Amino acid sequence: MTGRFDWYLTADVVVVGAGGAGLVSAINAYDAGSSVLVLEKMSNPGGITILAGGGVKAARDVEGAVSYLTHTQGGRVSEQLIRTFAEGLVELPDYLRGLAEVNGATVTERNETHEGIYPFPGAESLYSLTVTDLDDFDGYHWAYTGKNLAGQRFFKILLDNVRKRDIEIRTDSPASELIIDNGEVVGLWALIDGEKRAVRANRGVILASGGFEFNEKLKKEFFEATPVYAVGNPGNTGDGILMAQKAGAALWHMWHFHGSYGFKFDDFDTAFRIAPGGARNSNRPVSWIVVDSSGKRFMNELHPATQDTAARPLGVYDPDVPAYTRIPAYLIFDEEGRKIGRIANPLTTHPDHRYVWSEDNLAEIERGWIKRFDSLEELATAHGWSVETLHETVENWNRIVRSGGEDEFHRPAGTRVSIDTGPFYAVPVWPLLTNTQGGPEHDEKQRVLDAFGAPIPRLFAVGELGSFFAHLYLLGGNLSELIISGRIAGHEAAQLKSSAETARGLHAVA
Ligand SMILES: Cc1cc2nc3c(=O)[nH]c(=O)nc-3n(C[C@H](O)[C@H](O)[C@H](O)COP(=O)(O)OP(=O)(O)OC[C@H]3O[C@@H](n4cnc5c(N)ncnc54)[C@H](O)[C@@H]3O)c2cc1C
Repeated sequence: MTGRFDWYLTADVVVVGAGGAGLVSAINAYDAGSSVLVLEKMSNPGGITILAGGGVKAARDVEGAVSYLTHTQGGRVSEQLIRTFAEGLVELPDYLRGLAEVNGATVTERNETHEGIYPFPGAESLYSLTVTDLDDFDGYHWAYTGKNLAGQRFFKILLDNVRKRDIEIRTDSPASELIIDNGEVVGLWALIDGEKRAVRANRGVILASGGFEFNEKLKKEFFEATPVYAVGNPGNTGDGILMAQKAGAALWHMWHFHGSYGFKFDDFDTAFRIAPGGARNSNRPVSWIVVDSSGKRFMNELHPATQDTAARPLGVYDPDVPAYTRIPAYLIFDEEGRKIGRIANPLTTHPDHRYVWSEDNLAEIERGWIKRFDSLEELATAHGWSVETLHETVENWNRIVRSGGEDEFHRPAGTRVSIDTGPFYAVPVWPLLTNTQGGPEHDEKQRVLDAFGAPIPRLFAVGELGSFFAHLYLLGGNLSELIISGRIAGHEAAQLKSSAETARGLHAVA
């Protein structure tokens, strides 16, 4: 495709995606003197940022954070990138508090267990922030996050800053392809006002289109487990990954997702997370155990950061069977456990996906999502398991609960609840991701790198699109990352001189 384009819109910096990373990028590019246009695929901004639990990780000292991150990144990111991220964690509280002046929200240190932080050197330097005290704000009408509005308050700080600067966000405007001239990104194609239009980016394009939570092809290709269900924003289909790939980008961390196990029922379109999120609380009882397709326990049901790693044990393929014997796996609990509290925590940005889970789980038993059985024999038989095996599993479990002794899978004693009072309950659970981390590789300036490590001129990636996180997740780290990466990319893109159209004309990568 050759020839000069009829540019429908022009800005110095064009940002793809109006989630948290896109908005921080936009604010920073604008403050550095650029005109900015944000394109958003969905009808409302927010992405999955708006659904976040609202924990934002920060650090007290750079060296501590460098040490911790070096231990958790699996050798997959450069020392320079780790240092840049660590510096960003230290600067983050002041920066976020500065942004919060826009609406008077308070950024406070979060009271949470330290269990979601792995015991590596430097762990003590890390802590979490959250956004509180936003008067008269009871959430955005397009987001459902139950009683927890912390993620929405966090997003409101960003959106109010964008509105204050009068930065344009075009909703219902998905970007589809980059426009390259002489190896430089000079614009993109997007569906705007119902038609495919060329958009000029004088200085650069910042891809902030989130992850590939809802791209089944990419998930099948890059994850060992299958299926892996998602909660969140249906707009996150990895578009920025495909756009960057076509421009020659290297991909990284595609296998790594932030995920646990959760629920998916045939008669409801979206999946549901299990109720405990964030850092584990070793003193909080949780009603269930998880068993495989023969009725045996195989995992610690409550990892230190359950939402980070608890999907991993389910993804193991057993070649001797041969099958995924833990997909689905099953939650088992009893009548006393049922009363402890709801087992799921639904949230969504999709109006048809809203569901309020009952506190006592009775409505879901009525719906047939949770199956009730008068005896363990009946439960085992209904699932095709040996009654003896399930009895052994439950007896072993009850023995560990009573003794308080060591569990072979390391589940903390304070979380254990015995299973001995009928009726008994079973419900299938699947690997379930909160968000993906993979995407185009970037350097410490958030410049997208090609397959040979060279920056693709004028192309940046931020947020969870090609996230920094490569092995173990840092709880609260994705919100930190969208701030750190957005600050850098916005600033870097705004520093560039305007690209000039060449005499031979612009062409789309094809
Ligand atoms: C339930 C839940 C709880 C979480 N809790 C926390 C937490 O407490 N702390 C934490 O640090 N992290 C948390 N996370 C993760 C964190 O929220 C995300 O990783 C982070 O917000 C991602 O921000 P982002 O801007 O990169 O992506 P998003 O916020 O998803 O934004 C991407 C945007 O790009 C848009 N888009 C996609 N394709 C296109 C296209 N072609 N053209 C234009 N726009 C496009 C999308 O519609 C979306 O609006 C949580 C995630 C979930 C789902």
